[in-house]
Amino acid sequence: MLSFAPEKVPLPAGHLIGGEIHAGGSERLRVNRPSDGQFLGEIPDGDAALVDLAVTNAHQSWLTSGWGTRPPRERAKVLRRWADLIEEQGEELGRLEAVNSTRPIYDVMNHEIPFTAEAIRFYAECCDKYSGDVLPTRSNSLGMLVPEPYGVIGAITPWNFPLSMASWKLGPALAAGNAVVLKPSELTPFSTIRLAELAIEAGLPAGVLNIVQGRGVTCGSALVNHPLVRKVSFTGSTATGAHIMSQAALNGMKPVTLELGGKSPQLVFDDAGHVDDVALRIFRGFTVNGGQACVAGTRLVVQSGIADALISKLVALCDSVEPGNTWESTCRYAPIIDARQAKKIEFIVHSAIKEGAQLLAGGEFFPNTNQGYFFKPTLLVGVLAESAAVQEEIFGPVLTIQIFETEEQGLALAEHAIYGLAAGVHTLNIERALRAMRHLAAGTVWINRYGRSGDFIIPTGGFNGSGIGKDLGRQAFEACLRYKSVLIDF
Ligand code: NAD
Repeated sequence: MLSFAPEKVPLPAGHLIGGEIHAGGSERLRVNRPSDGQFLGEIPDGDAALVDLAVTNAHQSWLTSGWGTRPPRERAKVLRRWADLIEEQGEELGRLEAVNSTRPIYDVMNHEIPFTAEAIRFYAECCDKYSGDVLPTRSNSLGMLVPEPYGVIGAITPWNFPLSMASWKLGPALAAGNAVVLKPSELTPFSTIRLAELAIEAGLPAGVLNIVQGRGVTCGSALVNHPLVRKVSFTGSTATGAHIMSQAALNGMKPVTLELGGKSPQLVFDDAGHVDDVALRIFRGFTVNGGQACVAGTRLVVQSGIADALISKLVALCDSVEPGNTWESTCRYAPIIDARQAKKIEFIVHSAIKEGAQLLAGGEFFPNTNQGYFFKPTLLVGVLAESAAVQEEIFGPVLTIQIFETEEQGLALAEHAIYGLAAGVHTLNIERALRAMRHLAAGTVWINRYGRSGDFIIPTGGFNGSGIGKDLGRQAFEACLRYKSVLIDF
């Protein structure tokens, strides 16, 4: 994929309702390019009336099209065609993603586009692979458990991986026969609209998927509270997730799937293997998308025997990074999404240093990067366990380093009071690896690797403050169905 001119990318601006672009909403919101802070385009801020239009339209389209009751193989055919179109139109989608998000075009074309298509394809295969049950009851009667879609599912996604996050919500919900109204982040609204248009081109009845644009407090909140939304699937911060869960309970007792924040440890033992390989895993784990990934492995908990060698390799890797515009094919390092997020990262790093932490790399923005915010990969050692740098999700390329002697100390340091999203365990001793896996309260444990690949069969989701339920895998599909108990006397 070649570099492209950011100002030449046409933007689909508006909501998508019933297959048409719709301008509704009194206020307009500015959207900037993260790479250089320049104005990119505008979206309307959908209000309660607009959300009502989108949800009512989705509900009606769901009923009249029979999307939820048609043979599952027909739904699968539409989803497969959609996945093909995502690949065929990959460059157009990729440009929208790279110009608006923090993802470099190289990563978008090599990961986001193929993984988005593959996630949809995975759920096309799920369409006809579920069943209800026939249960033993009294004589002359029959008990059945009948799976059904919910109707309209409300989905809300964050800004860090707009296309993948949308596909993780849309694939299972549509495969299970639901309609969806999705609100992408107001910071990265554009690629999701095009993704949804491709679904309609692939044969999804218009209106069975509607996209609404706007802020969380206006548009997102109206979506969660709407009486025809029967389930809410959310990915975003833990604070917003808690609010959404309470609103979903108060407004119709809606079930929720919540994929939330994390502060994931990377536990490295002396016997982790070749230090170059381990360093690369740790480095990629905390710098992925400029550290703006829920599963970023941002707490290195390392045994003393390997600590010095590993840290010096990490310093070299941090120093090798160059900033660049996300629309340039050479760009490999993501900018921070906006000024607010950039200030938060800087503040937490400076606070840790004031509290006595030692800075081994980074700790500042790259100079001369126009109006974009490129924060250098940062290593902090000697950080107080209770400091914000260790406790809070920074959402930036910052790795705290804590050194331990015994396995018990390492396991204790790896624990977190709030989050339990992911953890990495690096040791060639299989028994130690499995002991650590058993001990760690994390929704995903990676052993001798760090991060996802295109394994859509493996679900993802957090323990404790990192969420409820799973995205991906059959589990996400099954969570988009509810089961009706039926008793028949004869
Ligand atoms: P955020 O919580 O600020 O916003 C997420 C979405 O929720 C946005 O679309 C936003 O407009 C909407 N929203 C905000 N307030 C709302 C409200 N009151 N009602 C309804 N909707 C509302 O999160 P963010 O800054 O966009 O994303 C970063 C966060 O997402 C991080 O915490 C990250 O860890 C998390 N995340 C988690 C996963 C996962 O799989 N667990 C994946 C990606 C990101």
